[in-house]
Amino acid sequence: MSTEKRGTTTLAIANQKGGVAKTTTVASLGAALAELGQAVLLVDLDPQACLTFSLGIDPEDLELSVHHVLTKGLPATDVLIETEDGVDLVPATIELARAEADLLTRTGREHVLRGMLDDLAEAGRHYDWVLLDCPPSLGVMTVAALTAADGVLVPLQCETLSHRGVGQLLDTVHDVRRFTNRGLEVWGVLPTLFDGRTTHARTVLETISETYDLQVIEPPIPKTIRFAEAPAAGRSILATSRSNKGAQAYREVAAALLARGAGSGADAR
Ligand code: ADP
Ligand code: MG
Repeated sequence: MSTEKRGTTTLAIANQKGGVAKTTTVASLGAALAELGQAVLLVDLDPQACLTFSLGIDPEDLELSVHHVLTKGLPATDVLIETEDGVDLVPATIELARAEADLLTRTGREHVLRGMLDDLAEAGRHYDWVLLDCPPSLGVMTVAALTAADGVLVPLQCETLSHRGVGQLLDTVHDVRRFTNRGLEVWGVLPTLFDGRTTHARTVLETISETYDLQVIEPPIPKTIRFAEAPAAGRSILATSRSNKGAQAYREVAAALLARGAGSGADAR
């Protein structure tokens, strides 16, 4: 072990379109990174709280959540949960729906999440990876996530013809770079719900990659029925179906992220 301070790599998983597997990606990559011996924190930033639920926690049972940390100044350690998948979670509840409005007139709202992560580090919690599960919008919460992140990963369902949304997301990334987080890097698009049998999916992917000059993260995550079943089990698909091809694809992506993350991260912070 080297004695130098280990860095944290924070990734925002963002796409304002719903149903593109943001939450599935956060849960699965989190579990895959944990399998690789990494200390992982997942943050649920969607009032629908699907990530929280998929990790076996019923948001309705929670009195305190990320909302209280971001808008009321509660210490993040008070809401932190250690889950069975070997990752820590800052959970969300439906109350987070009010956070956008609560924060809208507040100074420094873009930095609330950065502040929360800094507080956790100061409280002695070290994570190699922090994955931020963004809501399906480009509002305050997504901007705060991009402001707190080293990189952004964009899950993309290739079957969808419309990719205008990618341009809007990249516009937001550019604004964040200008005003709140100069170091933000786009790590690339991650093809999800991928049906490799159709040439259509490949064509859409190539078009998007060329149009926006984006790196495509490999391998694509195949569409598999197991993903629909995993949330009900309260465990990630990596735990429930170890050899599933979707789980395997997420493991390969996690290994690729690890190789990249080793060369970046927030050592300078
Ligand atoms: P988002 O967070 O972007 O809204 P989710 O992760 O909630 O998307 O995924 C949307 C739906 O697609 C969920 O029902 C999920 O179980 C399903 N899903 C995600 N990834 C896959 C996959 N690779 N194969 C099949 N279904 C998937
Ligand atoms: Mg989601």
